[in-house]
Amino acid sequence: MGVMAISVDSAKKSNRDVIVIGAGAAGLHCAIECGKRGRSVLVLDHGGGTGAKIRISGGGRSNFTNRNVTADHYFSQNPHFCKSALARFTSRDFLSLVEQYHIAYYEKEAGQIFCVKSSRDIIEMLEAACKKAGVKIQLKCSVTEIRQQERFLIKTSEGVFSSQSLVIATGGLSYPNLGASRFGHDVARQFGIKVTQTRPALVPFVFAGEDQRVFKTLAGVSLDVAISCGMKRFRGNILFTHRGLSGPAALQASLYWEPQGTLTIDALPETDIFAVMYSRRQRRMEMRNLLAENLPKRFAQVWCDHRRISKPVNETSDKELKEIANQLHAWSIVPKGTEGYETAEVTAGGVNTDALSSKTMEVNKTPGLFFIGEVVDVTGELGGYNLHWAWASGYVAGQYA
Ligand SMILES: Cc1cc2nc3c(=O)[nH]c(=O)nc-3n(C[C@H](O)[C@H](O)[C@H](O)COP(=O)(O)OP(=O)(O)OC[C@H]3O[C@@H](n4cnc5c(N)ncnc54)[C@H](O)[C@@H]3O)c2cc1C
Repeated sequence: MGVMAISVDSAKKSNRDVIVIGAGAAGLHCAIECGKRGRSVLVLDHGGGTGAKIRISGGGRSNFTNRNVTADHYFSQNPHFCKSALARFTSRDFLSLVEQYHIAYYEKEAGQIFCVKSSRDIIEMLEAACKKAGVKIQLKCSVTEIRQQERFLIKTSEGVFSSQSLVIATGGLSYPNLGASRFGHDVARQFGIKVTQTRPALVPFVFAGEDQRVFKTLAGVSLDVAISCGMKRFRGNILFTHRGLSGPAALQASLYWEPQGTLTIDALPETDIFAVMYSRRQRRMEMRNLLAENLPKRFAQVWCDHRRISKPVNETSDKELKEIANQLHAWSIVPKGTEGYETAEVTAGGVNTDALSSKTMEVNKTPGLFFIGEVVDVTGELGGYNLHWAWASGYVAGQYA
């Protein structure tokens, strides 16, 4: 955003009570709530449509909330910050809205709720609710400058607007091809607000050199594991890719992973593999065949080759069996990195919550300015938590903006 003078006069014709920048999940929900209070609301977005990320969410069926929304499923420098909004706008509240619009939904494992038909249903619901609340949406509109005088002055490709309240709902940095930008972080800095370190999250890992060479032959193989990163442990599938690891459990771990950090994988979380091997220790059986009874065959083979495990079970000492079991129950990996923002579902980090009121999402030192949704340093785990944060933070800001 360049520096230039915006005259109040030129903005007079485009006065609004509230301007929301970003027509995604958080921005639209906030706009609806403001409109319901009788505020005149304009939503601006540089994209050609609303809710681009809602559309692709949940593989096109949008995992739009979760029955078990609690602060434990969120990552932030301040883990308490999200509690107030989550308490005031629950998954039941969003389901009531979805039911009002007769959208069919279903629950999958771990409380995840999806549309039966298409994520398009959620976008159409938000657009209809915006219309009902008198919210105007201006697409293909680039904001070039924001100023605060008595009101907020917003210079855009479509003219200059002014508003009493300004809500920044421009999301995170992931999926730049869908319109993600640093805009929200830049606005925060402009108003003297710190932005915490950002990184791609809910993203596949890339193995370091040797691991990549060894395990790329397993691309397409999935394993039901427990994966730990720091104090967090996730049960579920990991999927080997040509470059590293994907699958729901790996994506979950990526939210808590810092560069150079270690992942620990229990490849057999439900099986005491030492006991299994020990019970067969009189048998002349290849170890890879024994492991293949408990693990995918290709994995057992590559694992044994990589670890040079070539002796049959009956020639393997108890100590060696113990070591093999330990390696399978606590396989340590230090990934080279992640696949980055191009494929990350979300951005961890963002607008520092210290600058915001958790009750209203308003900037403590700049009354009238709000930050909501993914642009804020609150990131959910996989399972509908990120969209729920967008709804909840949008809802609370919508009561005050
Ligand atoms: C592939 C994928 C699948 C996902 N699946 C799920 C899921 O199933 N469940 C779940 O909970 N979460 C999911 N997420 C995450 C979820 O979509 C986001 O966390 C959520 O959409 C964030 O909402 P938001 O309103 O804060 O930001 P966004 O939805 O990203 O909206 C931001 C809006 O701001 C606009 N914008 C950005 N910069 C500017 C600018 N400079 N000027 C004007 N406008 C601007 C953008 O065009 C966009 O419309 C998924 C994400 C991806 C990428």
